[in-house]
Amino acid sequence: MTSFNRAPTNAVEITLPNGVKYEQPVGIFVNNEFYETDATITVENPATEENIVEVYSANANDVDYAVDCAEKAFNEHWSTSSSATRSKILHKIADLIEEKKELIAAIESSDNGKTLACSRGDVSLVINYFRYTAGFTDKIDGRSIPGDGYVNYTYREPLGVCGQIIPWNFPLMMLAWKIAPALATCNTVVLKPASATPLNALMFGKICQEAGVPAGVVNIVPGPGRTCGEAIINHPKIRKIAFTGSTSIGREVMVKAAQSNLKKVTLELGGKSAHLVFADCDLEKTYQNLVNGIFLNAGQICSSGSRIYVQDTIYEKMLEGFKKYIEENIKVGSPFDESNFQGAITNKQQFDTIMDYVKIGKQSGAKLLCGGERLGSKGYFIKPTVFYDVKEDDQIVTEEIFGPVVVISKFSTIDEAVEKANHSEYGLGSGIQTNDLNTALSVAKRLKAGTVWINTYNDFDATVPFGGYKQSGFGREMGEEALDNYTQVKAVRIKLRDLK
Ligand code: NAD
Ligand code: MN
Repeated sequence: MTSFNRAPTNAVEITLPNGVKYEQPVGIFVNNEFYETDATITVENPATEENIVEVYSANANDVDYAVDCAEKAFNEHWSTSSSATRSKILHKIADLIEEKKELIAAIESSDNGKTLACSRGDVSLVINYFRYTAGFTDKIDGRSIPGDGYVNYTYREPLGVCGQIIPWNFPLMMLAWKIAPALATCNTVVLKPASATPLNALMFGKICQEAGVPAGVVNIVPGPGRTCGEAIINHPKIRKIAFTGSTSIGREVMVKAAQSNLKKVTLELGGKSAHLVFADCDLEKTYQNLVNGIFLNAGQICSSGSRIYVQDTIYEKMLEGFKKYIEENIKVGSPFDESNFQGAITNKQQFDTIMDYVKIGKQSGAKLLCGGERLGSKGYFIKPTVFYDVKEDDQIVTEEIFGPVVVISKFSTIDEAVEKANHSEYGLGSGIQTNDLNTALSVAKRLKAGTVWINTYNDFDATVPFGGYKQSGFGREMGEEALDNYTQVKAVRIKLRDLK
């Protein structure tokens, strides 16, 4: 084992913006203990620009120790743990999160800037997902393959220690999408949350302690991407990397995973998803779906419907109606004011990136339907921004903005809609608004994207797989498919003695 002489650390009392006090763990979570390290990360509330707390930051040595503990737990018991044990633990995690649902949602809103309603939705999905994976612990089975003079059968085995790296847009949900299927299938994990949003990942460590997760099975190591993240990606004892983040870092992850020890890799990356509005759609419902597509979570969703294409016969009417709908319904502001639909951008860096794209959009000659500026001067708030009459090769049309900024242009035929939608190196989400079953189903078939939402958008369910085509990544999260990312197939071939 790597030498490790860190001191355990205590939780810190925090008062949330809604007045609720709680104990926030601040140490890195390894082997079921929270430890101090020699560096810290300042955690900010992006709605107020105030610092919430400092949490400890892991370096490569800390990652080594976490991997040793994870490997030990894997070898000694977790890889052969009974399905009943794992199911009980996953259910217990879900129950504990449910008990603390309001607190966890408030922590998420304070750390990430998303509205309370949005956080509550995330937490509900997290609870459902842990329960769903609990139901699979005894269904990780194989096949029997008939053959002349042979018996063949397969079963699925875990991979070992899994390294998991997640972004800041859905701090708890991304953690659940990674950890739940890994645990259900007998793997152990070392997870790095994004530095901007480590609080609920550390709260999750505490939940693991309470749920009876054995030491070493779950390890949480906040830290910078370039040091802590790379230590995970390059680690010789880690057998699999699950990464969610930008396409550029995802590409690096894959190269380094290959160069180090050929880790198995799954990637959930960026997007520039097309949302198609056909003339026969129900426009009032469509407005809400378009809004969920691009202004939910302040547009910081990898599958955001950030390119809207509208059929030419309703284009003018739609623009007018959409503007009115946004003005009347989409309030921006404090995540803790329940009348707001959109909260803050999660960090200063992303706020600046989005504002740069807004400027690029204005200079490109695109027309501005609404928004195009920040809201107030304190907190990273951006008004819902809609550009229209954009051209296909405009930078704001081809590049992911990852904020509340959407581009609208028109199409006339189904073929043109499909061609424009597929004209992207990304392929994560897509949307179709129509009342015509034939249009819906035939266009769904032709879209090159991992998810097609019809008459809804950004609508996730624990039972339904999610993931990318093209440069949006590979591997699926949620649904039964997620379990494939965490298992490998063993084939056993038995030659029978000839009894004739
Ligand atoms: P990012 O790629 O900068 O960071 C993601 C994570 O990787 C963070 O934890 C970060 O610390 C870590 N990281 C950064 N550099 C690293 C390195 N060199 N080695 C190892 N780890 C490193 O992305 P972000 O800005 O945090 O997140 C936004 C991006 O994530 C967007 O592009 C978005 O589309 C994408 N995203 C995709 C999905 C999906 O499911 N496909 C979900 C959410 C976000
Ligand atoms: Mn934060």
